[in-house]
Amino acid sequence: MTAVAEQAVHPAVREFVSGTKRLLIGGQWVNAASGRTFPTFDPATGEKITEVAHGAAEDVDRAVAAARRAFEDGPWSRTTPSERQRLIWRVGDLLLERAEQFAQLEALDNGKSVAVAQGVDVAWSADIFHYYAGWATKIEGRTITPSVPWIPGSQWHAYTLREPVGVCAQIIPWNFPLVMAAFKLAPALAAGNTVILKPAEQTPLTALLLGELFCEAGFPDGVVNILTGFGDAGAALAAHDDVDKVAFTGSTEVGKKIVDAAKGNLKKVSLELGGKSPNIVFADADLEAAIPGSANAWLFNHGQCCVAGTRLFVEESIFDEFTQGVAEFASQVKIGPGLDPTTQLGPLVSQEQLDRVTSYLRQGLADGARALTGGGRHGDSGYYVEPTVLVDVREDMSVVREEIFGPVVAAIPFSAEDGLAAAANDTEYGLAAGIWTRDISKAHRVAKQIKAGSVWVNCYNGFDTAIPFGGYKQSGWGRELGAEAIDLYTQTKAVNVAL
Ligand code: NAD
Repeated sequence: MTAVAEQAVHPAVREFVSGTKRLLIGGQWVNAASGRTFPTFDPATGEKITEVAHGAAEDVDRAVAAARRAFEDGPWSRTTPSERQRLIWRVGDLLLERAEQFAQLEALDNGKSVAVAQGVDVAWSADIFHYYAGWATKIEGRTITPSVPWIPGSQWHAYTLREPVGVCAQIIPWNFPLVMAAFKLAPALAAGNTVILKPAEQTPLTALLLGELFCEAGFPDGVVNILTGFGDAGAALAAHDDVDKVAFTGSTEVGKKIVDAAKGNLKKVSLELGGKSPNIVFADADLEAAIPGSANAWLFNHGQCCVAGTRLFVEESIFDEFTQGVAEFASQVKIGPGLDPTTQLGPLVSQEQLDRVTSYLRQGLADGARALTGGGRHGDSGYYVEPTVLVDVREDMSVVREEIFGPVVAAIPFSAEDGLAAAANDTEYGLAAGIWTRDISKAHRVAKQIKAGSVWVNCYNGFDTAIPFGGYKQSGWGRELGAEAIDLYTQTKAVNVAL
């Protein structure tokens, strides 16, 4: 144990990271077949937290075989919906019982504020398990009365069954490690699938702790397998011929590789990818709400949000006043390590992210953008970046076009509603958008024209487990959360009966 030694953490967290973490395959905690491990780091200090099993192709084969056995032969295939409901609900309860441990571990591994980790990440993840526990007993088919006019006098009856897809590979990123695991696991299990979850290499720890809860809740062996590793393990899962579905959250670049890899057996694919979301503020907006709301739209989770509102469109007449307000709000945010409960903005997740974000900032400033606040690295230890508001930007700049995934916003003035949607839609992405105005007709008019999977009016980052979430254009395929996620994890069988 290194990074954790001097920090005030829960004894259970200290214990959890005191040894090498292993893979969960077929209900057993096992080493990688190669015996290799990799370190995971505390982004507040850059120090190692612990070592984690380095899963690779051979481990993928073992995990897929375990998930296949559990799906076809194990008790899981005979489990009733209400038994699945009880098991999944129990995971939600256990998460709440250990909320403090999960929050500390997430803050340690990812860098986010422990207060946010507990109040948002853990609380929401528990809610996701509770919500989908309820769905397990509500997955229903339909009855249909066919006409079959080409067989005169015949009588037919038809009905549909909603069946699980089978063995699902789920590959997730590092920005919301626990929440992303819950997004993926809960609906898949409610629908009766078995899964192999691959957490991001930067943040493997809360997924492994979650694995312990699945064992404790009483899930049969092999239903939930957790495989830590790098992109090659994800690629092996996406290409595996005995995997029926791959669900991926991460970059658009890797999303395209997943689609390619899945071609072999034409497994089902769902994707939640990147974004460069427009947040639009009209002059008639309630500025007292819009200023902090628009600042948090790109500051939340240190800007490491796929939905971050990083293109801030502000009506010309209030542009200077508004951007100054946002810059002032951002400059007052308290920066510090995630484990400090008063921290509002923690470090980025890794050295690689720090380099990436600061290189975008250098490029933007060299291209002629001006920073109203921020503009570079914060301090000289840990992976901190100053919250940065850029003005004087042009639409061809990389800071305007590309996903930075850090606390950086580009503010763009506009003069009329006419042409605004076209400017907001001028991106390869289509994940989310914000609109701030007191004019309700204008809000609905603009919401209709925006090409994005989520539109928030007079708010931002408003998520709920019951509301579907996903992307237009290159932001993804399919919708997670809500009833839509059950569609992702079921397939429909039509049974046709001649009476
Ligand atoms: P990433 O795409 O690099 O990695 C995501 C996951 O994919 C990791 O587990 C990684 O190990 C794995 N991976 C890497 N290469 C792979 C390959 N060839 N085949 C299979 N798996 C592979 O993304 P990241 O850097 O971890 O996360 C940041 C990105 O994720 C951002 O672009 C962000 O917008 C996006 N994201 C999207 C959502 C969403 O819901 N739309 C949510 C969070 C993050």
